[in-house]
Amino acid sequence: MRIGLGKDSHRLIEGRPLLLGGVVIPSEKGEDGHSDGDVLIHAIADAILGALGMEDIGHLWPDTDPQLKGMDSAIIARKVGELASGRIENIDTVVTLERPKLGPYKGRIRKNLASLLSIGEESITIKAKTAEGLDAAGRGEAIEAEAIVLLR
Ligand code: MG
Repeated sequence: MRIGLGKDSHRLIEGRPLLLGGVVIPSEKGEDGHSDGDVLIHAIADAILGALGMEDIGHLWPDTDPQLKGMDSAIIARKVGELASGRIENIDTVVTLERPKLGPYKGRIRKNLASLLSIGEESITIKAKTAEGLDAAGRGEAIEAEAIVLLR
């Protein structure tokens, strides 16, 4: 068994879509970023890469590369799914976001991530938290995601 941990955060701004696990969530604000800013995919990808003993996504897909501007993070998810090639036992995640409430979208996010990573939906869990106004996420200025993965 090998374990991996990943974390990501992005600023939330108006005029950008809110993407989580490749699913567009209706929201006034979305993630700013060089890529599409999908914090959940980025955290999961770093967790998988860590468990594989590889460099992180910032190294493999640098935000200084103009060709990667606006990059669809689904490409990253598919690639790390291939690298882990059937070894993913489970992935557990936490998303911290003030609004909107993610409950109604969790099923679609799990289904999409399972498809991108070529794993069963039962192998991925998502918890949604708010930060009670305490920090940038709590003030609705940012979104954060954390992921932990176990590879066989
Ligand atoms: Mg990121």
